[in-house]
Amino acid sequence: DAPSRCTFTLGGDQSKSPHNFGSRQKSLRQKIYNNVLELIGDTPVVRVNQLACDTGVKCNLLAKLEYFNPGGSVKDRIGLRMIEEAERAGILKPGDTIIESTAGNTGIGLALVCAVDVLRALGAEIVRTPTKASFDSPDSDIATAHRLKTEIPNSHILDQYRNAYNPIAHYDTTAEEIIEACNGQVDMIVAGAGTGGTLTGLSRKLKAKCPNCIIVGVDTEGSLLALPETMNEIGITFYEMEGIGHDFIPTVLDRSLVDRWYKSTDIISMNCSRKLIKDEGILCGASSGAAMSCAIQACKDFKLTENQNCVVILPDSVRNYMTKFLSDDWMCDRGFLDIKDESTSEWWQT
Ligand code: PMP
Repeated sequence: DAPSRCTFTLGGDQSKSPHNFGSRQKSLRQKIYNNVLELIGDTPVVRVNQLACDTGVKCNLLAKLEYFNPGGSVKDRIGLRMIEEAERAGILKPGDTIIESTAGNTGIGLALVCAVDVLRALGAEIVRTPTKASFDSPDSDIATAHRLKTEIPNSHILDQYRNAYNPIAHYDTTAEEIIEACNGQVDMIVAGAGTGGTLTGLSRKLKAKCPNCIIVGVDTEGSLLALPETMNEIGITFYEMEGIGHDFIPTVLDRSLVDRWYKSTDIISMNCSRKLIKDEGILCGASSGAAMSCAIQACKDFKLTENQNCVVILPDSVRNYMTKFLSDDWMCDRGFLDIKDESTSEWWQT
């Protein structure tokens, strides 16, 4: 039988194996870092082999693994930059308190930077807010942050939704790293939007340095970040996806920079993340699957060919979701395991 999937079989032709049978290559990384903040950024870009092959994507499908940051997500970058700039501006002083509304990753990034930084914060205190509270309700994460600010002396909200250093962190670091990894040839970039900081920062730099690069934004069904507006008017408001999507347009999201929006669904995104884990060994989170499944469709829609580079941002690791999409029971309870027959259908399409 002709193999339907281009898998690597052990014991076969060694030249087709992903393993390196040669001697160990010397690492270019330095050996000892002064502190963990020096590990933020410079995340690896890796080829997505099996998924590209299975789905018939012709171009180089490349994943930027932001879970290699020391706090486990893309948000370490903005945590570092927002704190450094607030210190430089004299806003943050030793002993002050930082308050932030966050689904988790930004909080971890900020706490990590505080732990190492001169401020020497002793740790983070978590105030939980109901997920279902809309952004303008008094129970929302943002309203709670502002209430706490009035109650806690010398406290500051760095506000990832409005802080210009959120997109600037990506403009200065993430985008430069991608351009360098691709030797200046970036044909498409795909990123999900939560605050929109990643998408905006990347787009601004890429539009300047690689003007032909196609910018793809990923929003989730149930959110209203995508354009045209009709994409959002589908009568769905609930979604399980974390990290992307909102019920308001964040200030740092510049939607005019995005060439094409795609909408992800919980079921396809989470199954795509499971494939990245199972078939590629890329231990990513749920929004990574959202970005990757939309990237596969975008590569086809824009007919990217061999030698073109599509870079997809994978924002965090599966660590945050061990009891969620990684669990068969959790998936089954939501009907998310009933995906279309993969061998006969284009599973990544909504
Ligand atoms: N995915 C995950 C898991 C996240 O935590 C975030 C940040 N909210 C994003 C994607 C989107 O990043 P940004 O806020 O830069 O749009």
